[in-house]
Amino acid sequence: MSYAADLHLHSSYARATSPSLDLPLMARWASIKGIDLIASADFTHPAWLDRLERGLVPTGGDIYELAPGLQPDADAWPPPKFILGTEVSCIYPQGGRSHRVHLLLFAPNFDVVHKLCVAFAAHGSLTADGRPMLKLSSHDVLATALSIDDRCEVIPAHAWTPWNSVYGSKGGFDSLEDCFGDLVGEIHAVETGLSSDPSMNWRIPELDGVSLVSFSDAHSAQRMGREFTVFAGEPTYDSFCQALVDGAIDHTVEFFPEEGKYHYDGHRKCGVCQHPAVTLERGDRCPVCGRTLTVGVLNRIESLSRRPDTVQQSESGLFVDPSGRRPPFRRLVPLEEVIAHALGRGPSTKGVRTIYDQLIAHVGTESHIIQHATLDAIAAIAKESVALGVIAAREGRVTIEPGYDGVYGTVRSA
Ligand SMILES: [Zn+2]
Ligand SMILES: [Zn+2]
Repeated sequence: MSYAADLHLHSSYARATSPSLDLPLMARWASIKGIDLIASADFTHPAWLDRLERGLVPTGGDIYELAPGLQPDADAWPPPKFILGTEVSCIYPQGGRSHRVHLLLFAPNFDVVHKLCVAFAAHGSLTADGRPMLKLSSHDVLATALSIDDRCEVIPAHAWTPWNSVYGSKGGFDSLEDCFGDLVGEIHAVETGLSSDPSMNWRIPELDGVSLVSFSDAHSAQRMGREFTVFAGEPTYDSFCQALVDGAIDHTVEFFPEEGKYHYDGHRKCGVCQHPAVTLERGDRCPVCGRTLTVGVLNRIESLSRRPDTVQQSESGLFVDPSGRRPPFRRLVPLEEVIAHALGRGPSTKGVRTIYDQLIAHVGTESHIIQHATLDAIAAIAKESVALGVIAAREGRVTIEPGYDGVYGTVRSA
């Protein structure tokens, strides 16, 4: 058995998120997207924690589900299960530099969550943001969590983004060991983030024994599941943790990394976007204004990697590691974007939403449609151009403009 999990989410209590992000809406969109297990998000925020304790009930295996009053209608898709997981932001000096690192943190139950909140409240405001800023090092967050309960799990979030990540060009480190020191062995996984995909991470030797996971970091419900991880096994807390240790991942579903906001180097204000090879040749100054460019994810991976890219695409569209040591992955374009391109309209327009809803109602979850549905099944509901777009994206026939310095890239099916 396996289950699709999206474990980097936020509630309406985190900064820059949709005010409508509440438990029933999160559950409804998870089921539309085809996600079986989602993170509670933001559990250190007192108001959201209260909401979670009233709105979730345990179902065994340290996994939760919506309380009976919040359950959707019986004819809706089955609602997802929940795991207690959040994100914290660490800001601290180390080795003469200032570091900013985001970490995903998982806990088995509310008792542990309360103890974590007491410990973290001494290092930052838990009420200001669902993703609290802590004046604690990454090492000390991990040490604190393990001292409270050794079943806690810490995963460096969006590991390559320039700001706020373990390997980031602006506030990160050159290795997990530099960041976590003597506790590096307790890091069992990293989140690759939207701007990198697993094969880029296969090039980093210190990640050989570390699982690579992908989640959405959605700030609105519609963006849930834009990346997710399919774990092998049963969806229980311990099985999830063990899967990270064992690498028991069936596959991950990814953005095209070029679509992420920090794939190339660049300067947003000047509209400068360039491949790392250009930065290597001409230096890291913006050719228009002379300021320092934001060095992106591809550049960081090139500078820390010790191996060539070896990924191969199989006939079914899966990207595979030829050595067979790493789980395969898919690169996909969100269904809404495929429909928008096929119709020549904006992704948030009513016409796009109508077709999206019809496909979900008649064909299946978004995960099913973009990964598996046949051309005929899609074309029976939507225009043939939509169906052809889904198949083209699945097979990698796309045109790409890479993202840079906070600007999303665009990936359109050919
Ligand atoms: Zn983050
Ligand atoms: Zn500039």
